[in-house]
Amino acid sequence: MRAMSALGLLLMLGSAHAAVQTVDCGRLLDVKAGVWRDKVTVSVENGTIKSVAPTGAGKGDIDLSSQACLPGLIDMHVHLTSETQRQVDALRGALSLDVADEAYRSVPFAERTLKAGFTTVRDLGASDGVNIALKRAIAAGHIPGPRVFTAGTMIATTGGHGDHSNGLSRELGKAKGHPTPYDGIINGPDEAREAVRARYKEGADLIKITATGGVLSQANSGQNSQFTDEELKAIAATAKDYGFRVAVHAHGLEGIKRALRAGLDSIEHGTYMDDEAIALFRKSGAYYVPTISAGRYVADKAKEADYYTPQVRPKAAAIGPLIQSTFARAYKAGVKIAFGTDAGVFPHGDNAREFAYMVEGGMPALEAIRAATLNAAALLDQGSRLGSVEAGYAADLIAVGGDPLKDVSVLQQVSFVMKDGVVYKR
Ligand SMILES: [Zn+2]
Repeated sequence: MRAMSALGLLLMLGSAHAAVQTVDCGRLLDVKAGVWRDKVTVSVENGTIKSVAPTGAGKGDIDLSSQACLPGLIDMHVHLTSETQRQVDALRGALSLDVADEAYRSVPFAERTLKAGFTTVRDLGASDGVNIALKRAIAAGHIPGPRVFTAGTMIATTGGHGDHSNGLSRELGKAKGHPTPYDGIINGPDEAREAVRARYKEGADLIKITATGGVLSQANSGQNSQFTDEELKAIAATAKDYGFRVAVHAHGLEGIKRALRAGLDSIEHGTYMDDEAIALFRKSGAYYVPTISAGRYVADKAKEADYYTPQVRPKAAAIGPLIQSTFARAYKAGVKIAFGTDAGVFPHGDNAREFAYMVEGGMPALEAIRAATLNAAALLDQGSRLGSVEAGYAADLIAVGGDPLKDVSVLQQVSFVMKDGVVYKR
């Protein structure tokens, strides 16, 4: 093992895990204690960390002695099966492309995400099950990508953010059929329950609902409430029965409050939250997943004349620029924050820019890194397996050249990525 070349290690990709591998880190960030540990050797066996100890006399199998190591990063809000493009091209694609096209296109998105240092993601929904197939292909080692926890098909109400027949002609809408709870469209508590059960059947890991309007859907409002209290309660109770956490897309204030009162687990974007909503977050213990990157990206693209449709462009211009200041207020008020970007709304692989935006918003770099490790793992119910480099945890390790606590932007240049003990970038 000691003399194994980088090529040899890469050839292990997808094969059975070898015996013990050792990685020498110049230093390792202990995210729990919030301190660097100098000259540390991480031993890995069968995809799991066996020990973390001071580097001894010999050399490890992988030399990162000039690098700073961190746990693999976790992004709690991505859409691995799509990527931003001019909306007119996307609409054209809806006429000519099949689900199989979408599946092949998503392969490099997954690889770019992993190589950017994100060893785990929460995929927050598509409308056709491609994300579940993608998760399976990655887990089986057929293609490189992050460990995926997916919402499968997102759940919306008729005409809501997430109704994939929005913006289509009557004829095309008819061809797609009347979307049902199985397709993620519900009206009323009974259908809400059916939709959650359909996600259980299709193999989702969690539930994603769109509680308010959103920016990129072909609909007028980016913030109106789109679920009733009764529907939210039905989602919450059924999700609990099936062991699902519920992630809630919400920009508008009323939708945010309803979701928090229903006891749902995370609010995504949260753009128009006020002090009362912040108090509800603190009372319920829900996480806030900011997605500043998406806000900034759509605000920029709204300046171009024809990137978004005329219906979407004003929403992008109004909502996009607000998210970073919402984040700043929420952080200051003590809301629990888990790192999430909405990658797919902007190009996959640029996820780590979010760290710089969080620091710009007043969060110390260490807390931003904790949001992408400890907090994200907790929201995934994976706190004893992911988000830290210690014995018994998944062997997810990344390295960078500089000190991310001094300049968090170095996380945008990850030099080494290991997931489950397999090296994907060197
Ligand atoms: Zn999203």
